[in-house]
Parts: sequence; structure tokens; C-alpha cells
Amino acid sequence: MSECPHVPALPRPEPEPQTVTCPECLAVGSHPVQLRKCLVCGHVGCCDSSPHQHSTRHFEGTGHAVMRSFEEGEEWRWCYVDQLIV
Ligand SMILES: [Zn+2]
Ligand SMILES: [Zn+2]
Ligand SMILES: [Zn+2]
Repeated sequence: MSECPHVPALPRPEPEPQTVTCPECLAVGSHPVQLRKCLVCGHVGCCDSSPHQHSTRHFEGTGHAVMRSFEEGEEWRWCYVDQLIV
């Protein structure tokens, strides 16, 4: 489905979410627009439409390349490195 080399390297089974919302937003009293879950470690962060974009910050800080939407009914994954839906 894609050329992304990061998906085959993801841990199996998929990590459980560490939190139910973005902990960095909670800490500063901000509100996530939507949530994303890191598929390497289970970190939950807010999306790029949110004021602080903590999921992208998480990738920049850790190099964890692939996240999944953490929204009800959404299954898509995104690779930050390849800039692809994977
Ligand atoms: Zn990739
Ligand atoms: Zn956040
Ligand atoms: Zn992570």
C-alpha cells in the first residue's frame, strides 16, 4: 500500500494509549482539536489543527515516525518522515 519503511518496524501488538487525551494540553489548560496516537510508544498528542501540535512535537522530540488517528471511527495512519498516509 505504501513505500514507508517505518510501518513494518512498528511494535506488535500496537502500544496501548498512554493517556486518554493530550497530557501536554492538559498541563497548560489548552484544548486539543483532535487526538493522534504514536504507534511506537502509545503517546497521545493533539493534531496539527490544535494550538500546540503536540503530536508533531512528539515526533520532532523522539523521532517516532508513525502515528494513528485517536478519534472514534478513524483508522488512518500518518508517517511524519515520509509525509504519507500509510
Ligand atoms: Zn515512513
Ligand atoms: Zn496537545
Ligand atoms: Zn512515541
